[in-house]
Amino acid sequence: MKHVNIPVFVPHLGCPKQCVFCDQRAISGVRSFDEGKARRVIERHLATLGDAEAEIAFFGGSFTGIGRERMTALLELAEEYVRAGLVRGIRFSTRPDFIDGEILEILSRYTITAAELGIQSSSDRVLALSKRGHTAEDSRRAMELLAEAGIPLVGQMMLGLPGAEAEDDRETARFIADCGASFARIYPTAVFRSTELYDMTLRGEYRPLSEEEAVERGADVLGIFSRRGVEVIRIGLPEGAGEEEFFAGPRHPAMGERIRSALYGRILGKACEAAGIPEKGDGAPVTLTVRTAPGEISAAAGYGRENKIRIENKYNVKKVKFIENPMVSRYNITLSSLSDSAGGGKPSCI
Ligand code: SF4
Repeated sequence: MKHVNIPVFVPHLGCPKQCVFCDQRAISGVRSFDEGKARRVIERHLATLGDAEAEIAFFGGSFTGIGRERMTALLELAEEYVRAGLVRGIRFSTRPDFIDGEILEILSRYTITAAELGIQSSSDRVLALSKRGHTAEDSRRAMELLAEAGIPLVGQMMLGLPGAEAEDDRETARFIADCGASFARIYPTAVFRSTELYDMTLRGEYRPLSEEEAVERGADVLGIFSRRGVEVIRIGLPEGAGEEEFFAGPRHPAMGERIRSALYGRILGKACEAAGIPEKGDGAPVTLTVRTAPGEISAAAGYGRENKIRIENKYNVKKVKFIENPMVSRYNITLSSLSDSAGGGKPSCI
């Protein structure tokens, strides 16, 4: 069944600080918020839901930092729709330093189906440069509390924050997996004009990642998450988000596709090496069959079929075929090659 979030944006509500990279008003396009608006947003989405299973999602602020009265009013509103059987549950995004015993006790009265924590980085140095106002230890403690409470956890992280080298980003992905997240979102850092990061960029204190750097770092962390069983539910901002305020940084409309393609490119390259596929001008041409998980052919063949083209250019192949196989998991492949001179012999599989 298709799943959708009914996003109720609460831009910057509950945020005690302004993180240097963040402008939720620009990203969400929602300038202000009131409870009456929340009900109208939910009703409007429900009217177009069809058969999809939905959660009401309070995004764009620090939900558990909102004053208790207002926060519980929003939870009560959402729970009405859960009780009526119209949505499956409630999810929200918040900061790690706003998860504690008191919050969990309040949340336990409602049908919370996921908590999305803005981890952003596991490096205290990067968190300080981004003016997050919390430490990695706060993130670890929040994730452990949510795990103990049995609330599914989504770890949100950013690529290329101020001071973050590629290894810092990889370490953040390992940290999120170590702390028990089931899901993750990956956001390459973009510079919006309305943020402090814009001034830092103009002063030369921050250099945004290039698109290629973001793709490589994204493939690194996607690989870590996939090996650790953390499902990545989003890569990059939705198309058009914050367009008017956007100044610099990686912002390819198909960033997710490009990162998935880069990861499959690495996997295919290693598989070809391991299978000893002959390079161009070396031995008899082979037909390669690449088996992928269902629905993954396009990502494996690559963005603009870049992976398929790379194999065709590097190796002595007559043909590269991609086939779905339900036995293969996502971000894995099996490869078999059949030599033209093999006379119909058995393919070699890896
Ligand atoms: S990143 Fe999160 S905590 Fe920071 S300003 Fe944005 S919404 Fe608030």
